[in-house]
Amino acid sequence: MAQRVAVFGGTFDPVHNAHLALARAALSALGAERVLWIPTGAPPYRRAPVASAEHRVAMLRLALAGEPRHAIDERELAPGHSGYTVDTLRSLRAELGAGVELVLLMGADQYATRDTWHRWEEVARLARIAVAQRPGAPAPGEGALVVPFAPMDVSASAIRARLARGEDVSALVPPAVLAYIRAHGLYRR
Ligand code: ATP
Repeated sequence: MAQRVAVFGGTFDPVHNAHLALARAALSALGAERVLWIPTGAPPYRRAPVASAEHRVAMLRLALAGEPRHAIDERELAPGHSGYTVDTLRSLRAELGAGVELVLLMGADQYATRDTWHRWEEVARLARIAVAQRPGAPAPGEGALVVPFAPMDVSASAIRARLARGEDVSALVPPAVLAYIRAHGLYRR
């Protein structure tokens, strides 16, 4: 079987426990050899992340420390990157070669919007799509791999809202990420 590499794009603003559970499930259940976490930049057509790219990457590093099968890939943060997944997949395909099968990971909420993605059909040609259930989002149906995953009612926006209200989020993010958020005063109103 071709070697599989999972590609996991997101704002990660901040990275949280559902992201980690999803990526780990992709390693164990989809036979992926590694996961490339690809934080999004701030392309003009998308709402800007709240935390800077530097903070978001720093939190990813803390969340993934000591996990050799998880790597952070910063190509979408490079000046001039379009921000489009299709361009990221094209460049990965060119670098990794045809012997590697790319598997694009996403939650069911993202999958439900696929028709609006830039060049979705090419995205689906460049990578297998693997979808994890998400509370409130439709089940993926045919055409995608399913990441076996007990649905988790966790989102970065809910975490930011809780932090802005001064509420506890220690069950939702890794301890080192929470310590970083506190140390840098992130997501306070
Ligand atoms: P926000 O609440 O700010 O929209 P988010 O929690 O959805 O953020 P992202 O960084 O936008 O986090 O998500 C990256 C990927 O992880 C997306 O494909 C998203 O669908 C998926 N994802 C995030 N949280 C979950 C979850 N609880 N269950 C399944 N997939 C999730």
